[in-house]
Amino acid sequence: MGNRTQDKIIEKAKDIKLLILDVDGVLTDGRIIYDDKGGELKCFDVKDGHGIKLLMRAGIELGIISGRESRAVEHRAKELGISVLYQRIFDKVKVYEKILKEKGLADNQVCFIGDDLVDMPLLKRVGFSVAVVDGSEYLKEVVDYVTMKNGGNGAVREVCELILKAQDKWGMLTQKYFGT
Ligand SMILES: [Mg+2]
Repeated sequence: MGNRTQDKIIEKAKDIKLLILDVDGVLTDGRIIYDDKGGELKCFDVKDGHGIKLLMRAGIELGIISGRESRAVEHRAKELGISVLYQRIFDKVKVYEKILKEKGLADNQVCFIGDDLVDMPLLKRVGFSVAVVDGSEYLKEVVDYVTMKNGGNGAVREVCELILKAQDKWGMLTQKYFGT
């Protein structure tokens, strides 16, 4: 990544007040595991979770828009304190516009992370668009940033850190872990 591209990404990340996440392939590695009763099991990354918590501590809001619906996602959102949760959504842009209106935010203040073609319309809309590196190749051509880490394996954490560092909030939030 050239310096100018990197500067552009930092400029975009500075404005972010809301991070919206897709679930399958972004918060998870995309695999869906069924138990013998047909219930869905999902694997979440604990470091992603901590990144989300840090972001919230910095006053940045979190939202989830998923095409599928599962109790596991409901539990994970609750655990992380994410109240903006939309599942079984076929038109992500429509829900996004509703959230924008409710929050009084503009496109440039929103970051969205996606992994597949259904995420394309919303990625084209938000101010800071991100695709996970193991997502669809088509997305990578249109987004502002492609993660180094895979979905479900630190991609979300990577973006949380990027936003916090761009906004000069990372040092303050993590100071206690490093000591003096
Ligand atoms: Mg997905």
